[in-house]
Amino acid sequence: MKTVYNFSAGPAVLPKSVLEKVQQELLDYEGTGMSVMELSHRSAPFQQIIEGAEALLRELLSIPEDYHVLFMQGGASLQFSMIPLNLLGPGQTAEYILTGSWSDKAVKEADKVGEVRTHKVETQTAIPSYSAKDFSENAQYVHITSNNTIEGTRFNGYPETGDIPLVADMSSHILSEKLDVSRFGLIYAGAQKNLGPSGVTVAIIRKDLVGNAPDHCPVLLNYETYVKHGSLFNTPPTFAIYVLKLVLEWVKENGGVEGMEARNQEKADLLYSYIDQSGLFHNPVREENRSLMNIPFTATDDEINARFLKEAKEAGFEFLKGHRSVGGMRASIYNAMPLEGVKELVEFMKNFEKKQ
Ligand code: PMP
Repeated sequence: MKTVYNFSAGPAVLPKSVLEKVQQELLDYEGTGMSVMELSHRSAPFQQIIEGAEALLRELLSIPEDYHVLFMQGGASLQFSMIPLNLLGPGQTAEYILTGSWSDKAVKEADKVGEVRTHKVETQTAIPSYSAKDFSENAQYVHITSNNTIEGTRFNGYPETGDIPLVADMSSHILSEKLDVSRFGLIYAGAQKNLGPSGVTVAIIRKDLVGNAPDHCPVLLNYETYVKHGSLFNTPPTFAIYVLKLVLEWVKENGGVEGMEARNQEKADLLYSYIDQSGLFHNPVREENRSLMNIPFTATDDEINARFLKEAKEAGFEFLKGHRSVGGMRASIYNAMPLEGVKELVEFMKNFEKKQ
């Protein structure tokens, strides 16, 4: 089999040991004589999987008792609609901090549902600090994209919002570093970067924020439906939830969130420190807002970018092309990217630079 390092922004690299376990269990899940894909979602073995996944996530993030953990479909993009449908009533206002493409998409959906007030950052290469005085006291919630997958930025310290619930799209960095869940009203993430395969979306929601959706809210867009039915109102993405549970077990075996953070910091430091002293490559993000997960970089011109991408692919470094809105390259180095992958990428970049 061809050996590659996968730097995709998502769906993204999964731990090899998880894939091996999936392979091992594929035809016979724990003596059931069938694969997980064939098990009823109402069966005892699947019940154990979904409950196990929730328990592990609660343990890894020390999720307080007054929060629900929900497994849904529709990706983070459906959360853009569900959040205002559930939390933004008539005559009420929500505030959105716009730090990049994904927050722009989130606010577009909220705008269809109710009143929004936006805070646009001056440049997409930095995120300022915010405090309660930046927000109107009666805002229903403040929405942020805590890690900007395309721009390669992240908040350095979360906004102080006082009593206003803070809602965060953590799709591209959940479980990558320590997190105080109690600072948030709602955290959500599509699984396909740090949690597992695509198809399942996780939300961690404070209990008092559930149950306020209007009567006309479609049943599957109402958080209360998932709470009442243990995320089993209708058929959930069973296979994706199974793999997610295996990924959470892998995180636990590898030092938990602290272990992930230490390794992620080491990987990111390695790449940023090389880029910063390079005469060829450049990362535009202000140091304190640099993402640990998504690192965009460009060479001095487009011809070199194209040549770099071509040679990198030939050498087994996959999906390094930057998002079309930013250009250049982007290395997504999620939890499952081994340190070795980043070391080899940096070596490859050094050698490429020498040849110019
Ligand atoms: N938010 C962020 C921060 C993302 O990175 C992405 C996917 N790249 C999305 C939302 C959209 O996620 P999905 O495709 O699961 O709807």
